[in-house]
Amino acid sequence: MNLDVKNARPRQGGALACASRYVIRKKRPQRRSGIHQCTMPDEMARPLIRGRGEGSRHLEASASELGAPVIGILGTGDFSRSLARRLVASGYAVVVGSRNPKRSAALFPEEAEVTSQVEAASQADVVFVAVFPEHHSTLVELKPTLAGKTLVDVSNGLRINRVGPSNAEQLAELFPESSVVKGFNTISAWTLQMGPRDGNRQIFLCGNNSKTKSSVMQLCRRMGFVPVDMGLLSSSLEIENLPLYLFPSWRVPVLCTLSLFAFFYVYNFLRDVLQPYVTAGKSVFYKMPIETVNVTLPAVALVMLSLVYLPGLCAALLQLWWGTKYNRFPCWLDRWLTSRKQLGLCSFWCAALHAIYSLCLPMRKSVRFKLLIAAQQVKVIEDVWVEAEVWRMELYLSAGIMALGLLSLLAVTSLPSVANTINWREFSFIQSTLGYCALSAATLHTLLFGWDRAFDPAQYRFLMPPTFLLAVVLPAAVLLGRLALLAPCVAQRLGRIRRGWEKSRHLRFALPDDGCRNGLEESSNV
Ligand code: NAP
Repeated sequence: MNLDVKNARPRQGGALACASRYVIRKKRPQRRSGIHQCTMPDEMARPLIRGRGEGSRHLEASASELGAPVIGILGTGDFSRSLARRLVASGYAVVVGSRNPKRSAALFPEEAEVTSQVEAASQADVVFVAVFPEHHSTLVELKPTLAGKTLVDVSNGLRINRVGPSNAEQLAELFPESSVVKGFNTISAWTLQMGPRDGNRQIFLCGNNSKTKSSVMQLCRRMGFVPVDMGLLSSSLEIENLPLYLFPSWRVPVLCTLSLFAFFYVYNFLRDVLQPYVTAGKSVFYKMPIETVNVTLPAVALVMLSLVYLPGLCAALLQLWWGTKYNRFPCWLDRWLTSRKQLGLCSFWCAALHAIYSLCLPMRKSVRFKLLIAAQQVKVIEDVWVEAEVWRMELYLSAGIMALGLLSLLAVTSLPSVANTINWREFSFIQSTLGYCALSAATLHTLLFGWDRAFDPAQYRFLMPPTFLLAVVLPAAVLLGRLALLAPCVAQRLGRIRRGWEKSRHLRFALPDDGCRNGLEESSNV
């Protein structure tokens, strides 16, 4: 490896013995050749990206900015390398502390110094601990050197829902004379290396010392990230858990979708596939992969969509019953209300799949055979042209397309980037008013599909009603409930409750002489 190892003077504090100290600086061209020849220790030692900025002039210029604070990093792994690169690009002088500086120096930008852990700790005011938490204890010999300095713990939790002290709290116990700030663990080495333009910009921070925390927040901003203050170090367990969650808000909606799918699929299988086989020996098992799935998906989509609007109705009914909005909803309703976005997106997903399946139906061989047979049997077109059926199909398709279009709009506006561009009234108009329009269109689509089949005894195979009848019960109930809430006397009372009126605490007040009314009742809790 073409490295130039030489004694160096510490930037700050000169208490350390020079003999034990060295700084490794790299000659750029030589280092390149070293990397490409034989010095790479292993795959992990390679930087994630060789950015165009490697060894470039602008990094050099920025690192040498006058007055740039010195930032230390302990550890030379993936995270440390990306962090060093980002810090150098943001104009900081970086000193990296390693147990074996010779081995890792070639992997860092030239502007960063790679030296011993003690030397790095002594030079920097803010020190990132980019070492796995189980190795934190091996750093205790740095305790006197790190006293009075800021330690940034970037470690992630090892497993979710851990109790007891967090990694950061344990680090704070190990280094009581240092000020520990938790943060940076929610962004990956990749995001750090690519910079904030490509990835999540938020960095969650917490710490007990507000001064050191704000200096780390300042550092975040200078690196182009958005610091989010999460309060005291006691929040660190939550921050450590953040990267470990696996779609926490999606678990119930996805389970709900899968359960409904399983229920309706089995129901359709019994009615449409098993019943003809058992009663007439007719094998239609070929329907299972496409046709049965395609009858199942719209039923799931419709029920899921009504589940989006049902909790709102329950909340309104509870508020009307209590006569106040200040009572807390039961936990199950709270959770249900907060899952509406995910429920709606699951519904949209099923509806979109149903549209794709429906478009693919005519491509199947079975349909072509059926068409051929039917065409041979038809003598006169009037025999097969049933005006009512034609109309039913036109209306049914139109309602379905409309429902899918509205659902797409709801899905798009639920994206945070889109939702942030519209105001609250626009958002609630789309999600509530257009949402109910989507539910109405989807219900109409289902009813038009069913048409008069609900009254045909032949449709009750194995005494089971047609699937559309089951699917339509909940949305119809939700739509009727919504209509009931629109009745003037109910809507007025609900409106007052939502503006703070309480049944049990209403006061009487006199209206102004001119009789002008502000829309509130004479009797209100004001
Ligand atoms: P890594 O590649 O394994 O690097 C860890 C470094 O720790 C080693 O390179 C080693 O550097 C140093 N170290 C110091 N004392 C050690 C000891 N006793 N035993 C082993 N290593 C020791 O890990 P990493 O991916 O950079 O992650 C480092 C920390 O950042 C972890 O706490 C991790 O949770 C956190 N983090 C990582 C990412 C990511 O994307 N990688 C994202 C968020 C948070 P020397 O041999 O040079 O001393």
